[in-house]
Amino acid sequence: MASRTALAATVGFLLAGLATVPASAAAAPTVPAGARQVLAANDGWAAATTGTTGGAAADDAHVFVVRNRAELAAALAGGTDPTPRIVLVAGTIRANVDDANQPLTCADYADPAYSLDAYLAAYDPAVWGRAARPSGPLEEARVRSARNQGARINLRVGSNTTIYGLPNARLVGANLLVQNVDNVIIRNLRLEDAADCFPAWDPTDGAAGNWNSAYDLVTLTGATHVWADHNTLSDGNNVDSAQPLYFGRPYQVHDGALDVIRASDLVTISYNVFQEHDKTMLIGSTNTVGADVGKLRVTVHHNKFANVGQRVPRVRFGQVDVYNNYYYLTDEDAYSYSWGVGVYSAIYAENNFLLRSADLALEDFVYDWGGTAMTEKGTLTRIGTGPVRAVSLLDEYNATHDPDLGTDAGWTPVLRAEPVTPTAQVPAVVNTRAGAGRI
Ligand code: CA
Ligand code: CA
Repeated sequence: MASRTALAATVGFLLAGLATVPASAAAAPTVPAGARQVLAANDGWAAATTGTTGGAAADDAHVFVVRNRAELAAALAGGTDPTPRIVLVAGTIRANVDDANQPLTCADYADPAYSLDAYLAAYDPAVWGRAARPSGPLEEARVRSARNQGARINLRVGSNTTIYGLPNARLVGANLLVQNVDNVIIRNLRLEDAADCFPAWDPTDGAAGNWNSAYDLVTLTGATHVWADHNTLSDGNNVDSAQPLYFGRPYQVHDGALDVIRASDLVTISYNVFQEHDKTMLIGSTNTVGADVGKLRVTVHHNKFANVGQRVPRVRFGQVDVYNNYYYLTDEDAYSYSWGVGVYSAIYAENNFLLRSADLALEDFVYDWGGTAMTEKGTLTRIGTGPVRAVSLLDEYNATHDPDLGTDAGWTPVLRAEPVTPTAQVPAVVNTRAGAGRI
């Protein structure tokens, strides 16, 4: 008589085998309507020119239900196959696993020549100084270690792809890499904690140095026509406040939540929740006047930004439409700024709502990273449950900083699918509609 263990192993084998059967040979999975949805006409910059349809045209053979990293990676095909595909994420997928879906720890990735203790000893400012970034054998061992982790958690997404979360889907520890491709939709997914096992110390970053990490939850690099909609992005249960200090600086294991860099263009980021994360949305990663000129056009609307620290967004070069977002900022300790006005940037901010704690100063909301102007209209703010009042966060900035930023970004958005929501309604609309599980 077969033992229960053997039977379970057999069932497990059969289930595992199913994943390798081509979808065409199995019954076609049911596709939720939201996974076939395309971006509406005029809904932000991603609606420009050819619009954004993702994998909506996928045939049955290119609809995949994925339950673990290996299945997800197989369905994405390394991001190299432009055949339209719909990837349906089921349950929790963890990226830090081996091919048998067994957990990998940071120690599993570490090069034999690397240890954090040795790294801390070698590059302590008291030993190494502060004039140069780390170099030498230990830094090289760190880079090799990071390469091992990157090979597991960086998941490339190809052109004409929709990634859609089935109920309660969650992707933990992965960096979705949308690189040099066109036409991608990411919807209804919880994305958490793309933690870097091997942060790099940079004594030249800022006045006191910084620990920097490599992975975003989603990176758009050289990507066009991308719609990120109804996702929830966060550090999960690995929050920054629980990380140690080394050399007096936070050991930052997270990088961006959703970054848009290197000549990416025509992006709509709508109805997402970003929460409990520091570097939230970098649009443009270099001040160099080159490939980014005329690109980095992004629409950011009806998102909730709940206790995120900075870069919400930070913009270089792009015409970026930031409207109807709900900023919920009650953690002054984790707060830096929200609208980063960088070189050649053109932020148009309309009808955003800021709920804040009393100790969060209005003048800190805008930060000048070398820009010249932005447009702001219709902002409302309140402290806790106090009275709602109109405010210009740009005026608050200019009143306390010099030189002033101008008040005209030099363009007016036209790609908006619906009338702008009255600002007073933004908290209720965003609270009930934004985030995963709300389609
Ligand atoms: Ca990044
Ligand atoms: Ca001033």
